Amino acid sequence: MWVVDLGRSFFCLNMAQNNSLGLLYRAYHEAGHVAAMAFTAQGFEQIVEVNVIASKRFLGVVRSRGINYARNLNLVPIQDQPTMARREAIWLLAGSAAEAKFEGVKFDVEQLAEEYVTCEDDGGEAIDMVGTDINIVGSMADKVSRRYYPKWRLIHTWAGLTVELLEESDVWSCVEHFAKHLAKVGTISENELEPFFAPIYMKGYESARWRRRLVLPSMASTERVKSTLR
Ligand SMILES: [Zn+2]
Repeated sequence: MWVVDLGRSFFCLNMAQNNSLGLLYRAYHEAGHVAAMAFTAQGFEQIVEVNVIASKRFLGVVRSRGINYARNLNLVPIQDQPTMARREAIWLLAGSAAEAKFEGVKFDVEQLAEEYVTCEDDGGEAIDMVGTDINIVGSMADKVSRRYYPKWRLIHTWAGLTVELLEESDVWSCVEHFAKHLAKVGTISENELEPFFAPIYMKGYESARWRRRLVLPSMASTERVKSTLR
């Protein structure tokens, strides 16, 4: 079982607050990840548990059965790697982007990369630099970047898409609904997830705009995808 998310974020100082506000930040962070996965209907099925019970190792977590970003990328043909990296980067960035939206500030992905370093300096042993959202995004960008599409241009594109995804009103209302519940209960297991995300499940496939952006299969093959997922 892979721990997909260690709940480290741009606002990690907010997240780390040992109070109800810190808990709410963590809940929005994890809710952002799950909503992005539900919207693209990829990764969502593999989620085993989401929790925001802070420990020394992580502040919040999305536990998954099968997601391993580096391996996923290596398993697909080279021409498909950029689109896979884009979809997975959106899941990864959606955590911090959801926190920014919750806070009412602009999601600044470069600041996110810098804050990680700052947090490590301040936080000492509690911060695990390897495996954090932005670091995985950075290594995916390294892998798929080209001379005409350099690393940071890719990351900015991915971040822009992530922000737009959360701007979709039904996506954001799922995030809010789920985050508030998650903050209350602490842990949500896989069989409790579906009702929260049903309104946006596979929504990415239904919009021509998002299908194009996420390079998802057409509606004609959507039913086939659905039947293999369920
Ligand atoms: Zn995260």
